[in-house]
Amino acid sequence: MHAHSNARVGQYWPKVWLKVRPRQNDETNRAMAMKFCYACGKLSPGEALFCSKCGRSFDVRLCPRLHKNSRWAKACSQCGSHELSQPQPHVSIWWKVLEFLIRAGSGTFLVYIALTVLIDLFRRPVFQAGLVAVGVLLGLLVWSWRQLPEWFRKFVSRFMKRKEHERER
Ligand SMILES: [Zn+2]
Ligand SMILES: [Zn+2]
Repeated sequence: MHAHSNARVGQYWPKVWLKVRPRQNDETNRAMAMKFCYACGKLSPGEALFCSKCGRSFDVRLCPRLHKNSRWAKACSQCGSHELSQPQPHVSIWWKVLEFLIRAGSGTFLVYIALTVLIDLFRRPVFQAGLVAVGVLLGLLVWSWRQLPEWFRKFVSRFMKRKEHERER
């Protein structure tokens, strides 16, 4: 019924949007780094109401007074306007999960990559041989430390303690 008005929406929306500033409430102030547009793939900074590239609203349809309506609404539930914004396409929950993982878990992902690389390394015989060599070397160091005379060990530990004191100061 109002398909033609939807097509128009994208063209004049930004102007209307600039005139009607959204009221600052807790919801719009909520700290959210980015909003991702599933229609064009653009990230809009902050608590954006519309995609800055294609002008679509995110998970809601907004009337010119910026009342929030569900994406399936045909008219605004608060003012009755039929001039509702075009929402971005509905995406499966898995895309949102993926987006969340990418946003919140990129650090975790890096750790995971590092771990897999490490585990892969540990499985390699060359690396295992290397580990054994390092172990033997450490053992040798401890053994040779034990062979050192008592006065030398005490001297070194006192020297280390003095260094620590200097760092504390
Ligand atoms: Zn967009
Ligand atoms: Zn409205």
